[in-house]
Amino acid sequence: MTNSKALEKAISLSISEHPRLSEFDRLVYPVISRRAGGLSLGLNLNPDKKCSFRCVYCQVDRKQTKIELIPTIQQISNELKEWLTLIKNNRNQYKGHTLKDISIAGDGEPTSIDILPEVLELLVQFKKEYQQEQCKLVLFTNGTEIHRESIQKSLQQYFDNEGEVWFKLDFWDVNSLKKINRTRYSFDHIFNNLKQIGKQYPLVLQSCVFNWDDEYFDPQKYQTYITLLNQLIREQIKIKKVQLYTLSRVPAEIKATAWSDENMHMLGETIRKQVDVNLEVIYSKGKEL
Ligand code: SF4
Repeated sequence: MTNSKALEKAISLSISEHPRLSEFDRLVYPVISRRAGGLSLGLNLNPDKKCSFRCVYCQVDRKQTKIELIPTIQQISNELKEWLTLIKNNRNQYKGHTLKDISIAGDGEPTSIDILPEVLELLVQFKKEYQQEQCKLVLFTNGTEIHRESIQKSLQQYFDNEGEVWFKLDFWDVNSLKKINRTRYSFDHIFNNLKQIGKQYPLVLQSCVFNWDDEYFDPQKYQTYITLLNQLIREQIKIKKVQLYTLSRVPAEIKATAWSDENMHMLGETIRKQVDVNLEVIYSKGKEL
């Protein structure tokens, strides 16, 4: 298949599919994203689907064959060039969608990938080279390895060029971290990483809420989460936004189910009353009431 035909096929995505990797073993994939408000170029640094978390709600399909492909900076650069050239030549659009961001949002945890600092630098370089001034850069992370010195060094330039870090914060204590995210990393390690980055740069905190097992919506459960948010604010951690969302696709554990719009609304209002923060609530159908 020619490159242009491959690109044509890869872009024919529906909003609900959100595929992570096309059938062409590509690391860069297009998606029409509600979060971005248009076309987003996703970058998958984890085609082997390895992650330092094992979230019960994870929507990465690990039953499908893993792709044994080690991302190289050369391959990422080549694929990004292809897409950015195509989009730039079409007045920053593809099929009527304007390019809004380039996001590192793969099938695992990007901070555990050695070349992440080079990738962040490459994104900044391409943003300038392809005159994508309005295009945001987004790094999704659970924060487990973001303390690495090489990553820290690349963050200033990244944030100076409309880079954002979306830091996962589903948990509120040791037990909830174990129960929801099922990781060998400690609560203190992750929380300290969050605070270390958040002291220097504004973070978007992304929190997934859902029904699990026979525990249903319990506002009391989230009081500790609210206390944690207030603790971060007291400690002058920079929070650009908190995004609260629920499941919209089939999760790893079928016992995890989406919260109703009413419960999302209720928790959103409870947070707004108690925490001085910019809060965005994403309902299971993707809209905010
Ligand atoms: S951190 Fe993300 S990719 Fe990893 S298990 Fe959790 S939801 Fe899945």
